Amino acid sequence: MTDPILPLTSKDINTGKSVENDAAIVTQMRLLIDTLKTHNYAYYVLDNPILEDSEYDQLRRSLLELEGEYPDLIQPDSPINQVGDTPLSAFTQVMHDVPMLSLGNVFEYDDLRDFMRRVNDRLNDAQKNPEYEMELKLDGLAVSLKYAYGKFVQAVTRGDGQVGEDITQNAKTIRNLPLWLADATDIELLEVRGEVLMPKAGFERLNRLAAEKEEKTFANPRNAAAGSLRQLDPSIAASRPLAFYAYSVNQGLPESIETQSAALAWIGDIGFTVSAVRVVQNPREAQAYYESVIATRSDLPFEIDGMVIKVNRLSLQQQLGFLSREPRWATAYKFPAETVMTRLHAIEWQVGRTGAITPVGKLEPVKVGGVTVSNVTLHNFGEIQRLDVRAGDMVSVHRAGDVIPKVTRVWTDLRPEDSKPVKLPSTCPVCDSPVVLPEDEALARCTGGLFCPAQQQEALIHFVSRRAMDIDGLGASWLISFFEHGLIKTVADIYQLHNHQDEMITYEKLGEKSVKNIISAIEASKYTTLARFIYALGIRGVGETTAQNLAQQFGDLDSLMAADIEKLLLTPDVGAITAELAYKFFRAPHNIEVITALREAGVHWDKVEQVVSEGLPLDGQTWVITGALDSMARDEAKAKLQALGAKVSGSISAKTTALLAGDKAGSKMAKAEKLGVKVVGEDEFLALVGE
Ligand code: NAD
Repeated sequence: MTDPILPLTSKDINTGKSVENDAAIVTQMRLLIDTLKTHNYAYYVLDNPILEDSEYDQLRRSLLELEGEYPDLIQPDSPINQVGDTPLSAFTQVMHDVPMLSLGNVFEYDDLRDFMRRVNDRLNDAQKNPEYEMELKLDGLAVSLKYAYGKFVQAVTRGDGQVGEDITQNAKTIRNLPLWLADATDIELLEVRGEVLMPKAGFERLNRLAAEKEEKTFANPRNAAAGSLRQLDPSIAASRPLAFYAYSVNQGLPESIETQSAALAWIGDIGFTVSAVRVVQNPREAQAYYESVIATRSDLPFEIDGMVIKVNRLSLQQQLGFLSREPRWATAYKFPAETVMTRLHAIEWQVGRTGAITPVGKLEPVKVGGVTVSNVTLHNFGEIQRLDVRAGDMVSVHRAGDVIPKVTRVWTDLRPEDSKPVKLPSTCPVCDSPVVLPEDEALARCTGGLFCPAQQQEALIHFVSRRAMDIDGLGASWLISFFEHGLIKTVADIYQLHNHQDEMITYEKLGEKSVKNIISAIEASKYTTLARFIYALGIRGVGETTAQNLAQQFGDLDSLMAADIEKLLLTPDVGAITAELAYKFFRAPHNIEVITALREAGVHWDKVEQVVSEGLPLDGQTWVITGALDSMARDEAKAKLQALGAKVSGSISAKTTALLAGDKAGSKMAKAEKLGVKVVGEDEFLALVGE
């Protein structure tokens, strides 16, 4: 049995063991019944469902399974055998001559074969393995139409299967519904059943218009069709793009017609619209057709939610008969559900290559959109709070096409009593360094930068890159290989590679000469600049410009490492988030160890010439550059401004003196205008710098 929504056991007072308990089973059944009733009403009566059909189907299956397992506990008001819901009393109620039933469901090839086996079990040897006929399962509203001597006289909805609503006036407005059948004038009573649906294009148009007028939109074309057909004012139905597709003849079929496929061909000939029909001889052919329809389903002008497979010979259909809610000779072969309920057992935190800490939901494995899913990303802590999801919750998971599965619903009302809200871990699950969640940022981050194993590969690649330590010749693939072979763990180990030259040759099949080249490139990189070194450390938020600004501001590494947040904030370009990340970075003992090892290995730089801006024309000013300049690159413009004593920052704030705006200035321009920051064009700038 599938995972029950509530526990089916309680503790035995004497033994302390869990025992299955009738009361718990009844509670579970009641919960499912009440939930299904609420949703039946929303779907069938209000035409306004709250759940996806697949979620509803799953709840229904859970109840069906429980009833199968505990038949003695079946509740008298169980909706399992019910068709639809009580029709609206606003319409005249009409009793069907022949009940309008629902259909059983299968979801997988094995279930389809079970269905065919059950059919075979009821047939004699000569009749076994009958021919089947397959149709599209149109996702609309079942309607019965009556014709007297060729004239359309009545349309009735399925209602609860026995009694439906008379919607004749509305049905008359459906464009492709024939009001007169010239070829059936000799038939006293012809009853044709089929589906009223709203084609996708019409549905989209209707919802667009409703949205423009700020009116209620429909959840899907099925509900739009049902809602339109059940309007008391026929002029509303007339304005809606509805269509009728016939799928059976229930009274008045000429006796010469012996199969379902022939019956559909006949009603097609006398004037009805009929959708695609295929006759198949065995389950394999049925499966192949089903799969081909799935592949082309999105090209259809209307929604379908599966296929219907019917025993083709009408005499066999009659022989097989009905169960209380559905025929034995037909079933719906539904498409793989794209939204499925399952239990979320735990939330684990993963550390990405950039230190981002993301929550991953561990699911009871479930098939959704055709594949088994056992993990689902929960994106970030904010998303967890938004969804209010907790370990142990039932959740709905959606996956369509190749889209990454996501949690679309948390069943908070089915939540175990002892569940607790999720907390953000305070330390990194991989390296134990503190975790920070900067204000205004979605992602929490590990501050273990250089040390955290989850981030080391990324840290290594960044460290050797051209604009950082520029270790030409030590490419990413070798670096990763040396990392994987354990020759290097942190960036400091790069400077010990000269002790591992033999292993480098063995692992990467490098020639001695290449190894010598790598070692000398590493050696050469030891002489660098403070700005490059700061950038190479890979502190989040510290790009090249910020690294240069930090080098200028502090002049040496020790002062930078000792700086508190307030001091860091004095640096141009450094806002609260970067200041916090940098501060925490230099407080993580592992990072300090790595930095010490790098210096001990001989990484060094010249003393920083701090530009004395005092007395320069732009002293005390902060500039921001945006857009493309005609006369020079932005780096050059920046150098010119700095030479005049200005600080150049990457982001605009109220403290910014001026924005130098080139072509295609975007959001910075808007922000400058909003903050009242002066905007300087290229000509004015050239005049200022004396060009
Ligand atoms: P069903 O859709 O499972 O199957 C029976 C119906 O299929 C028939 O009444 C007929 O209208 C239709 N059909 C379409 N093409 C057909 C064809 N070619 N031949 C024969 N019949 C064809 O029907 P159901 O009993 O109305 O209800 C169950 C469906 O309604 C499920 O899909 C369920 O998920 C959905 N539902 C959803 C909610 C919700 O809250 N989302 C609530 C209640 C029911």
